[in-house]
Amino acid sequence: MEPVIVGAGIGGLCTASLLSLSGEKPVVLERECRVGGRATSYPVKECLLDSGWHASYYKNGYVGGAIGEILHKLGQPLKLEKLNPPLCMYRNGKIESVVGFNHVPAELRPVLMKFAAEIRAIPYEKTHEYDDTPVIEWVNQRTQNPILLKHFNLSSYFAVTAKADKASAGEYFRVLQIATSMCEGLGYPVNGCIKSIADSLRSGIESLGGTVVTGADVVQMDVDGDRISAVLYTKDGDTHEIRPDKIVFNPPVYFILDYIKEFPKEFTEKVKHMKGNHTGPSTQVYFLLDSPFLTTKSLILLPEDADMWQPGEHCALFSPSTCSQTVAPPGKQLILIAVPYTGKSVEDRALGLLKEVFPDVEPHIDWVHSFETKIVDGLAKHVGFVGRHKMGVTSPLKNLFFVGDTVEGTGPGMELPADSAKKLFSVLQGGEKNL
Ligand SMILES: Cc1cc2nc3c(=O)[nH]c(=O)nc-3n(C[C@H](O)[C@H](O)[C@H](O)COP(=O)(O)OP(=O)(O)OC[C@H]3O[C@@H](n4cnc5c(N)ncnc54)[C@H](O)[C@@H]3O)c2cc1C
Repeated sequence: MEPVIVGAGIGGLCTASLLSLSGEKPVVLERECRVGGRATSYPVKECLLDSGWHASYYKNGYVGGAIGEILHKLGQPLKLEKLNPPLCMYRNGKIESVVGFNHVPAELRPVLMKFAAEIRAIPYEKTHEYDDTPVIEWVNQRTQNPILLKHFNLSSYFAVTAKADKASAGEYFRVLQIATSMCEGLGYPVNGCIKSIADSLRSGIESLGGTVVTGADVVQMDVDGDRISAVLYTKDGDTHEIRPDKIVFNPPVYFILDYIKEFPKEFTEKVKHMKGNHTGPSTQVYFLLDSPFLTTKSLILLPEDADMWQPGEHCALFSPSTCSQTVAPPGKQLILIAVPYTGKSVEDRALGLLKEVFPDVEPHIDWVHSFETKIVDGLAKHVGFVGRHKMGVTSPLKNLFFVGDTVEGTGPGMELPADSAKKLFSVLQGGEKNL
């Protein structure tokens, strides 16, 4: 029986893609009615809303990084509009590019360049020696300058989604090295939304004979000895049973305990420890404006308070309709403001930010839509909770495997599950064993 993959998130789809490319015919079971998991999009009124602000690694006009490699092999390269510059910062009433360290005084930029060169020069494998060191400790050994310390807070937050005192220096270095070697910045799908990435992976899988079933909720896994013997899922009210050789589990690993209780104690403890290690929550507030005014193709970090680099207080503003023609009707502008808090007055506070940044604009708002989300699972939050401290791709059960962002892998955001899929594929091909 062909391999079964539980979940059509980026991790599950990348795994299915690699298996399809090697001649297998995987079956992907996804409980939602659409693919993409946390990197999906859905229609609201006349727009397509992403499940929160998302950008992809960009290379030569297309999706880059590990996902880009896989899309390329599938013959499904996905065109991106480059975010140019990728990141800006709003301060002192101005939107300034962060590229070239423009956000720090000119006399400090050479110091940052020197640090960046030092990080790039660390051999990739050696970065693991810094896994248990907080970024801030590495920085403190080199400078006490408060502006530079704030820069590292900001860049840790952006690269690893954690403050510099919580972010692992090893993880931070690897993300920077990958970002500078494999990619040329960030981009957004030209003719679509963030789900286009998952849709392209799905098309590639299906073109090679694999199957992706949406609305298929895996409800039970039966264990017989050291193997899973059967997987039960419901679709359209019917229950189906399959008996696959291999099962790849894509949701955050700790959810496996909802299905299987018979794991060794040590494994169960490690899995439980992953729970609650996610970053966030954050609230994503979308506004549809009746006339476009913002042309910046960048993520704009907004300080909500006077101390603009206070970690954890970054709000981000992005207009996907500056990059893609298809997310909003012509003549309208879709704006997203992500705020790191939840609660009743979130929409008013987001609107307040929009007005603060663009005081001369009187936008007419067609509608506002907000939702809460947690951003990255199993990444950061605690130093060292990366790489070897995360779950391996294999499990105590011989035919159960894991992929996703709670599993070993490197890179920011979607790159992490894609990298875990590459690792699993190598293990399944008889490469590295990490039971
Ligand atoms: C607001 C926000 C902003 C982000 N910004 C970025 C960004 O700019 N760039 C970036 O690269 N990354 C970003 N990320 C992170 C990125 O989206 C995630 O890290 C990544 O999508 C996680 O993928 P995954 O494969 O690990 O898991 P998931 O996406 O969680 O996939 C798991 C899948 O399993 C399915 N599933 C669960 N249980 C079952 C079941 N019983 N049966 C069948 N299916 C099941 C789920 O429905 C889901 O589709 C962001 C995330 C959020 C939330």
